[in-house]
Amino acid sequence: MDYLFDEWEKLKSRLKLKDFFIFLDYDGTLAPIAETPQQAFMPEQTRRLLESLLRNPHFKMAIVSGRELKDIKKRVGLENIIYVGNHGAQIQGPKIKFSAPVYQKSRATLERIKNDLTAKLTSVKGVILEDKGLSLSLHYRLVDKKDITRVKTILHESIILYLVKNKIKLKYGKMVFEICLPFDWDKGKAVLWLLARQKFASGEKMFVPIYIGDDVTDEDAFKALQNKGLTIFVGRPKPSYAQYYLNSPGQVNKFLGRIISLKEA
Ligand SMILES: [Mg+2]
Repeated sequence: MDYLFDEWEKLKSRLKLKDFFIFLDYDGTLAPIAETPQQAFMPEQTRRLLESLLRNPHFKMAIVSGRELKDIKKRVGLENIIYVGNHGAQIQGPKIKFSAPVYQKSRATLERIKNDLTAKLTSVKGVILEDKGLSLSLHYRLVDKKDITRVKTILHESIILYLVKNKIKLKYGKMVFEICLPFDWDKGKAVLWLLARQKFASGEKMFVPIYIGDDVTDEDAFKALQNKGLTIFVGRPKPSYAQYYLNSPGQVNKFLGRIISLKEA
């Protein structure tokens, strides 16, 4: 994994003549990680950069998040952009609407887990259990260190039977457990789906995908885009399917600014 700005001169000439389909994760990529998911906001400067990208015909853009669709739409608040919610299970944008099929029974499973966790976790301070319709998020960033093992034990007890029967999937985020339905659908598949659709819609015009994300769930997208485009991990370099890394949401801004100026130059 290379530091992107070290390779910039080389990349610049490769990128200059291309059009891009930019996929951006939200938390930890556009919005700095906050104490609670409610407090994670995108800086005004980032919003302005996204607006310039949307105005430029050389770019297409999608926000790809683990958040529920309506939550991510509200947080980003831009029109004419594609939103992917619930780790790929919901996609919405201009002339696009997709939702992974949810069966009543699957929703009932999540409901049971939610009720069980709510009852068992009332005594633990700082836990936030978020119901995102197609998944549940159990945030433990604000939980006292000494209680974290207890949270994990309770979670384990509540989900183990569903897990072994393959009725749910457990994903790991930053100080959050994601209890998802076992769709064969993730951020990587959503990205490939959007690219295929784009290719069909625009015919000859090829968009090079750029994917930027900071989480374990973004690895699915990095993997799906191997040898297809530019993949950028946000954070300290680590074993990953991504080719490049940037250190922080601030550097993501800087990168977005640079690719806009490539097209304006
Ligand atoms: Mg993230």
